[in-house]
Amino acid sequence: PADENVYIMFTSGSTGTPKGVQVTRKNLQSFLNNMMEFIDFEPGYISAQVHDLSFDFSVFQVFFPMITGGTNCVVPEEEKFCPSDFIIREEINLWSSVPTIAEMMNKLSALEAASFPSLKYSIFCGEPLHQKTADAWMLAAPNSTVENYYGPTETTVFVSRYVYMETDSARKFHNNIVPIGKPFTDHQMVLIDEENKVVGKKEVGEIAISGSQVAKGYLNEPEKTQSVFVYMPCDSSDSIWYKTGDLAKYNESGNLEYVSRKDNQIKFAGRRIEIGEIESILRGKIKGEDAVVVPHRDDSGI
Ligand code: AMP
Repeated sequence: PADENVYIMFTSGSTGTPKGVQVTRKNLQSFLNNMMEFIDFEPGYISAQVHDLSFDFSVFQVFFPMITGGTNCVVPEEEKFCPSDFIIREEINLWSSVPTIAEMMNKLSALEAASFPSLKYSIFCGEPLHQKTADAWMLAAPNSTVENYYGPTETTVFVSRYVYMETDSARKFHNNIVPIGKPFTDHQMVLIDEENKVVGKKEVGEIAISGSQVAKGYLNEPEKTQSVFVYMPCDSSDSIWYKTGDLAKYNESGNLEYVSRKDNQIKFAGRRIEIGEIESILRGKIKGEDAVVVPHRDDSGI
């Protein structure tokens, strides 16, 4: 049945217990159908798998080559932070990863001009993609598109897309971050305020998403599910919308630009972490004392 769980992906939970996102067959099928519209390969192409199975990005990396006749080539553990030799050696055609890996390669001067001629598609998702990184990747992979995808685990991997163009290099995007673009055609994204009302055209709001990739909710957590999988006042149908906690705004070309989180969730090398989860575990260990976790951004390079 279409609404049967096909996998349960655990993500960080602010109360100390991870939340299990229930993804159904229908969700996965819709996601893969959408991706097949964007990525056009003859069977026999080579795709790279860099993310492990506990990260929803891996769902794309495992299933997409499987259903389209590609070869999935797993990046060896020791090359994961700088896979440039791997891409060249294995003649990878489809690269996908969190931007952190590309940033690391750039810092290590491993994105030399035209060094990845075999790449046709380069897909980034999971955290903000900086224009500087997209520009460097574009130069290193001259035969490839550079695409920024966006999506939480709760909407089955990716749900919006922006194709970065050479001319975008000179454009001024919010915080120099590549836009997250527009939702997949069978999805809707709206920006809402605290009362779930759609904000004005130029205002920043929380992204809410509806469509066939919206998951069934959290496993055995009806309250948590009801707090973020909701009906929306702007929608008279019985569609469920997922409230992402991500703040965004529209730019002049109608593409969404990521602004920030509205809560304490952070991304560490692309992985989603609730600060509250670490605090709660620390509180359990140091009985009678309080604990506060403050994320520290290291901008010093490597
Ligand atoms: P996860 O559930 O681990 O896939 O993490 C989802 C979260 O990652 C989103 O709610 C965003 O906060 C962040 N995210 C995903 N893709 C992007 C992107 N392209 N740009 C900025 N943030 C992103």
